[in-house]
Amino acid sequence: MKTALITGILWQDWPYLAKLLLEKWYKVYGLIRRYSNPNFSNTDYLWITDKINFITGDLSDECSLINVIKSIKPDEVYNLGAQSFVWTSRDLAKATTETNSLGVLYLLNAIKLFSPLTKFYQASTSEMFGNRHDNWIQTEETPFHPRSPYAIAKLYAYWMTNNFKESYWMFCCNWILFNHESPIRWIEFVTRKITDGIAKIKFWIAKDIKLWNLDSKRDRGFAWDYVEAMWLMLQAEKPDNYIVSTGETHSIRDFLEVAFNYIWIKDREKYVKIDPSFNRPAELFVLQGKSDKAKEKLWRESKVKFKELVEMMMEADLKRYSEIK
Ligand code: NAP
Repeated sequence: MKTALITGILWQDWPYLAKLLLEKWYKVYGLIRRYSNPNFSNTDYLWITDKINFITGDLSDECSLINVIKSIKPDEVYNLGAQSFVWTSRDLAKATTETNSLGVLYLLNAIKLFSPLTKFYQASTSEMFGNRHDNWIQTEETPFHPRSPYAIAKLYAYWMTNNFKESYWMFCCNWILFNHESPIRWIEFVTRKITDGIAKIKFWIAKDIKLWNLDSKRDRGFAWDYVEAMWLMLQAEKPDNYIVSTGETHSIRDFLEVAFNYIWIKDREKYVKIDPSFNRPAELFVLQGKSDKAKEKLWRESKVKFKELVEMMMEADLKRYSEIK
């Protein structure tokens, strides 16, 4: 039986990845921080939580990572843990750097010293590309220009992952993930904010949704499609870096259109309030990825398309509020 360690337990991607690994008969460990009140509110996945071996550690605490790697010597490490909210990274730049940059260095060092055959997966991000005006579609060859402490910290981790591969012949890979969403996306992210907000409007719990740049465009896939790609990457013959994306880009306006259409609310304009307090410095306007390399070498295409993704998220939020009512 293979063993896998997943960091970043409790929120979006991990239950999808854990489900996939359990179906493949892995023994799954989950690195969990110390919480005064742990949040297991992704209840759809409680059955998975029962099957995970939780192990205490924190990406910002090097000793804890050494102890974890030394004690379980996993076959595979999936580093999903991160302070992943771009907005917050501007207020918590140091904490973001400690987790997203140094956390990766600590993990890689622990693997090098105590379990050098462990395969390592790093969740890199399309935010590392920043804005490019000459060529909107990003590939593995596109130069980076990160524009937030989150993206800068992730870029350090990207290069450190490459460096351990090149210097010590370790099996280390970066998946440059474009945005991916799901019904269990945390509420602070704009997509869930919209589907949750529209469900609240439908049930008369809220009057409007406050948003900022409706023209901001992202390449958004479904989290379940992307975790399969994570696993496939570590089964490849050689470690490499790949983009995973849908190849399509859609604005927040497009997202609102599909979400409102789902419930046939009229006079939608009155439900969306533009709030300048959400304006962020060094905003990214368009991200769109080309994942031809991944498709050619190890992955099939993203199955869930944009409209289906939005409708899936709407359905889940409407169900949640209809059960509360
Ligand atoms: P998420 O929902 O924000 O989950 C991140 C997890 O990391 C949370 O469970 C968080 O725990 C944990 N974490 C934060 N700081 C930690 C620390 N110091 N030690 C241990 N764990 C810590 O992120 P996601 O959407 O699942 O994304 C997974 C990974 O993919 C992240 O690395 C993210 O940056 C990257 N990524 C995501 C997207 C996307 O669109 N979802 C796109 C590109 C890249 P708490 O619950 O305690 O905060």
